Amino acid sequence: MVLNEMGQKISQALAFINNAETLDEKVLDACLKEICTALLQADVNAKLVFGLRTNVKIRANNADKGAGLNKRKIVEKAVADEVTSILDSGVDEKKLTDLKKGQPNVIMFVGLQGAGKTTTCTKYGAYYKKKGFKPALVCADTFRAGAFDQLKQNATKMGIPFFGSYSETDPAVIAQQGVEKFRAAKHDLIIVDTSGRHKQEEALFEEMRQVATNVQPSLVIFVMDGSIGQAAFDQAKAFKDAVEVGAVIMTKMDGHAKGGGALSAVAATKSPIIFIGTGEHMDEFERFEAKAFVGRLLG
Ligand code: GDP
Repeated sequence: MVLNEMGQKISQALAFINNAETLDEKVLDACLKEICTALLQADVNAKLVFGLRTNVKIRANNADKGAGLNKRKIVEKAVADEVTSILDSGVDEKKLTDLKKGQPNVIMFVGLQGAGKTTTCTKYGAYYKKKGFKPALVCADTFRAGAFDQLKQNATKMGIPFFGSYSETDPAVIAQQGVEKFRAAKHDLIIVDTSGRHKQEEALFEEMRQVATNVQPSLVIFVMDGSIGQAAFDQAKAFKDAVEVGAVIMTKMDGHAKGGGALSAVAATKSPIIFIGTGEHMDEFERFEAKAFVGRLLG
């Protein structure tokens, strides 16, 4: 992750306040401008950056009325608080990750093509298998040739039962059949992988709604490539508007992800990030820690 680059830029901007002889409006504006540029370069959504700037400024100006507190510290804390509050979806993520055993948790994965859904479905299943769950995978991706084989291969490697079809072309039908089969076999974690799609593809969005109607997921997870950049907000929002997205998993956080997309995804879906993918291997998957993330983001 190249988060530190942004952290350095923000630190430099804050140092600018320290070095200035007086901390007037001009100096504060210049500092905030640098901070906002750093955030934008890290792919944080422009609207979010604008809101953050306004809020930090209000807090800094209020501090003027206080008793000579260190303004740099105040600005620094205000920026960290603002980023933290963007990442706070208001939803208790423990409720989403502490799945109950012995009942059929049906988890549907959605996202853009290539986001890492198929890989993440298996990682997710393997994570809960280690915790004593009985996971199963359903491939409802009939769009991409080879999707079923890929899921099969991953599932076999991790010892997770799977379901799919080479002949059925309706993903909603396959999804329903798979979920019914694994419900009957008393699996307590049934993971449904779906085709990748973009918000411009209305027919594919309708198909995704159909899958959701047929399987009645207990949780819909939006999988997002961490390096998606400024497109994150609009894409995430389109998925949220179409199906009940309840959580986000960010993938490829080992690569060139600058981190800003994470903030956009949370803001757009009002859902927490629950896990991150940190590599192509099945064990390169971890819980998302908002605090640590902010710490890295701000250096
Ligand atoms: P899908 O189209 O959304 O199902 O995406 P896939 O699961 O096929 O993943 C697309 C590519 O991203 C594959 O080459 C995966 O190995 C890779 N990938 C998935 N997750 C990660 C990750 O966390 N880190 C890295 N480096 N690669 C990943």
